[in-house]
Amino acid sequence: KRLQDSLEPPFLIEGIPIAMEACIGVALLPEHAADADALLQRADVAMYYAKQVAADYAVYAAHLDPHSRERLRLLAELRDAIQLDQLVLHYQPKVEIKSGRIGGVEALMRWQHPQRGLLYPDIFIPTAENTGLMNPLTQWLLRDALHFQRTADTVPVRLRVSVNLSARSLHDAHLPHLVENALVSSGVSPRQLVLEITESAIIHDPEGARAVLTDLSRMGVWISIDDFGTGYTSLANIRRLPVNEIKIDKSFVLGMLRDRSDEMIVRSVIELGHNLGLHVVAEGVETQDVYDALAAFGCDEAQGDHIQRPVPGDRLLEWMRTTPIWKLDPGGF
Ligand code: C2E
Ligand code: CA
Ligand code: CA
Repeated sequence: KRLQDSLEPPFLIEGIPIAMEACIGVALLPEHAADADALLQRADVAMYYAKQVAADYAVYAAHLDPHSRERLRLLAELRDAIQLDQLVLHYQPKVEIKSGRIGGVEALMRWQHPQRGLLYPDIFIPTAENTGLMNPLTQWLLRDALHFQRTADTVPVRLRVSVNLSARSLHDAHLPHLVENALVSSGVSPRQLVLEITESAIIHDPEGARAVLTDLSRMGVWISIDDFGTGYTSLANIRRLPVNEIKIDKSFVLGMLRDRSDEMIVRSVIELGHNLGLHVVAEGVETQDVYDALAAFGCDEAQGDHIQRPVPGDRLLEWMRTTPIWKLDPGGF
């Protein structure tokens, strides 16, 4: 507490008062570690946790630890999962509101785990983020999604396929190369590929992100900013990046008819996005009412369980063949 208090008053650096906040991680000997190195490493884990939840301090606990045995086991299994073909992509359609057509699909990763059943990406992607696994994972993802795009050419619509890139791969200078290879070997045109990048991935290193995004954009792939609205980026920052699309985060869309401020955010993002020449997508559309409101606000595309939840590729193609949804007028589900 004394340490924290002493860091509270602003520091004068070259005459400029700089305010700082300190997060403290606590690890105890002998409860948490047997030697000094391990003790520091665990205090570090606690400190990162404190930062993450914006607490003044945190005490070490095994479940906070990215190196805990549970997480390490999952990582080891994930390494094999790629080879053992346990990863699958599910696809969720996006409807172009004006025409009522399916304009594209988003690939969402699942892990068919032999013991634990179907695992969702929130469980294993963050764990894989800071390991060498992200690269093979992205490679697999691109190959599979582009393969699906080719298969989907048999239905009478041109599908754009969107894939999610992790924050980590965005700062990997090899990414453009990886994407290019995947496009060349699949024969899919770059225009049919959308790369979704979360807003928060960009804030951490806008310059690095810009370099990679510029390379990708030159190849002709479409760049989309995911979870827009959660990262407090101004649209002015986005404008300096080669971005084509923004996706309004589902946290605003889900309850926008109940919460006035959510509705205002959705409307403003649509309007500002359009003023900047961006395509605007709303995710998390669960009801016809929300779909109709988005149509009234002039939103370009809608995605959500109301239209179709994410399903395996063959099921989605079947659904598209049997549901002539893209021929219906907006509001006609
Ligand atoms: P996201 O990119 O924001 O994906 C949208 C999430 O919203 C998906 O969750 C989807 O199933 C869910 N969703 C779709 N429609 C609705 C709806 O109407 N209501 C509600 N409540 N939810 C809806 P999912 O599949 O669990 O994916 C979670 C996150 O994991 C994704 O969020 C994305 O950030 C990440 N992710 C998924 N696949 C990949 C991948 O292949 N690579 C990477 N790096 N991240 C992935
Ligand atoms: Ca996404
Ligand atoms: Ca999202």
